[in-house]
Amino acid sequence: VTCAQFRESAWAYALGALEPEEKRELERHLSEAVAHEGCHAALDRAFSATAALSAAIPPIQPPPAAWDSIQSRLSASGMRAPARVRGRAPWLVAFAAAAACLLAVAQSLTYRRTIVEKNAQLAQLGAAELERQACARELQALKSSVEMQRAALAMLELPATQVVPLGAPPGTHTASRGSALFNPEQQKAVVLISALAPAAGKDYELWVIRAGRPTPAGVFKPGLDGRVITQVDPKILQAGLPEIFAVTLEPEGGSPAPTTAPFLLGRVQKS
Ligand SMILES: [Zn+2]
Repeated sequence: VTCAQFRESAWAYALGALEPEEKRELERHLSEAVAHEGCHAALDRAFSATAALSAAIPPIQPPPAAWDSIQSRLSASGMRAPARVRGRAPWLVAFAAAAACLLAVAQSLTYRRTIVEKNAQLAQLGAAELERQACARELQALKSSVEMQRAALAMLELPATQVVPLGAPPGTHTASRGSALFNPEQQKAVVLISALAPAAGKDYELWVIRAGRPTPAGVFKPGLDGRVITQVDPKILQAGLPEIFAVTLEPEGGSPAPTTAPFLLGRVQKS
């Protein structure tokens, strides 16, 4: 296993989608005392993004048929479906559905690579792609903020995507937390925040900060579940690399410049 191969498989590893032998080979590579080319970072990113995803899936109860259809599709394609979740918090169900889809995506990518390498069984390439599309549709039906979630899921597949954790600035405290998924190559960013308290007569505002100058990047209210998923206008990112993502509480409708100190901050790593 080379570092490039490891990085390609980090997602599948984080999702537990590998065969035991593949998994052992990756672990062997990770423990090798060589100058790794971003292997540990790729694995960290994959793990923290799956955690961020679990925090961002809104708690909804999918119809029972939805799960059955995901499960039968997974088993039809020879994939192991996770055990059905009963009587748990609704978000667990939603997360399990999302995880199953991610698993299918990761597996279809692995299948595709194997198939291309062997240059055979091209028909299955189409099947894996159909599988991936079917899962994307299933997620669409299950989720309310569909477009955002699809953007987030699509971004998570890209190796260049950075997961920027958003937390309380030093010396402050907040129950809220979040992640900004930022892809410098595509100049796209999706921000996921959880545990946002409703604030009557106020709005939350996202800021992209460059050279100490904040640019307004979206005004939002938390959903009933305290969660928010929002996409940053690409025009804001095209104007230059963001250094910091920040969130403030503002008068209703938002402000052209922050009127309160940020309670969530995340610094983008320079690559
Ligand atoms: Zn390596």
